[in-house]
Amino acid sequence: MAFESLSDRLQATMKRIRGRGKVSEADVKQMTREIRLALLEADVNFKVVKKFVKSIQERAVGQEVLKSLTPGQQVIKVVQEELTDLMGGTQTKINFALKPPTVLLFVGLQGAGKTTSAAKLAYYIRKTHNKNPLMIAADIYRPAAIKQLQTLGGQLNIPVFSLGDKVSPVEIVRQGMEQARANHHDLVLIDTAGRLHIDEGLMDELEQIKEVSHPDEVFLVVDAMTGQDAVNVATAFNDRLSLTGVVMTKLDGDTRGGAALSIRSVTGTPIKFVGMGEKMDALEPFHPDRMASRILG
Ligand code: GDP
Repeated sequence: MAFESLSDRLQATMKRIRGRGKVSEADVKQMTREIRLALLEADVNFKVVKKFVKSIQERAVGQEVLKSLTPGQQVIKVVQEELTDLMGGTQTKINFALKPPTVLLFVGLQGAGKTTSAAKLAYYIRKTHNKNPLMIAADIYRPAAIKQLQTLGGQLNIPVFSLGDKVSPVEIVRQGMEQARANHHDLVLIDTAGRLHIDEGLMDELEQIKEVSHPDEVFLVVDAMTGQDAVNVATAFNDRLSLTGVVMTKLDGDTRGGAALSIRSVTGTPIKFVGMGEKMDALEPFHPDRMASRILG
C-alpha cells in the first residue's frame, strides 16, 4: 500500500510524543528532525519539507501547545492539521458547468492512466450526479488507445466518439463537442494523447484542444509511482494549460507517497481524485484530512 513506510515512521514518532505531560523545545526539535527525515525518505520535495517542518516547529512551541493540558496530543494535532493543509486542506469538488455540457479534459504522459481514469470518472459521475456522459477518443498516437476507450465504454455502457486515427485530435474534439450538444450529453470527457516526455508539439496540440472544447476542468493524470517526476510533469503542464486538478493514479501500488504530498504545494493544483486499482470502480475523491489521518494512524 502507498505511504506504508512514511506512515510507519511518523506513527513511531507520534507514539513517542503522544503521552507527554510536558513538551520541551528539545522534544519538538527531536520530533521535527524525525519528521523531516521521514518525509525526505518518502520522496517529498525538499523545499516542501523545509516549509512544512518550519510551520510545525513554530506552532508546536507556541502557546496553544504549551498551555494545553495534553501537550503531547496537541503537538500531534498540529502535525495532522499541517499535513492536511499540505495536501490542500479541504476536499475539492468537480467544477460543473452552469450551462451543460460540463467538459473534462484529461492530459498527462503516456501510461499515466488517462484512458482508464477518463472511463472511471465517467462512470463515477454518472452514478453520483446522474449525468449522461460522452467520451471523446482523441489519442490517435498510441495504437491501442481508441480501442481501449471503446472497450471500456462498451463495458460501462457509455458512448465513445471516435473518428479513428487519421483525423487530427483537434478536429476530433471539435466534432465530438458538436455531437455531445446534438445528443444532449451533459458531460463530456476527452482522452488525449500522452508522450513519453513533455514536448512542444504535444503542448501546442493540447492548447488547441483546450481552445475548441472550453473545458471546465483540465485534469492532469499522474502516476504516483513516479515520485518527484510527477511533480515536475505537473509544473510543466500547469505552465502551459493552467490545470484545475490532478488525478493521481496507482496509489494502490507500493509508492512512497511523496508526489501526493508535494504536488499541491509546488503547483497550487489540488488532487481531486485518486486511482486505487485497475477496475472501473477503483477511483475515489481525494480527502486531504482522511489521507492525513491514514498516514498518522
Ligand atoms: P494512458 O496511456 O495515460 O491512457 O494510460 P492507461 O489508462 O492506458 O493506463 C496505463 C496502465 O495503468 C493500464 O494498465 C491501467 O490499467 C493501469 N492503471 C491506471 N490507473 C491505475 C490505478 O489507479 N492503479 C493501478 N494499479 N493501475 C492503474
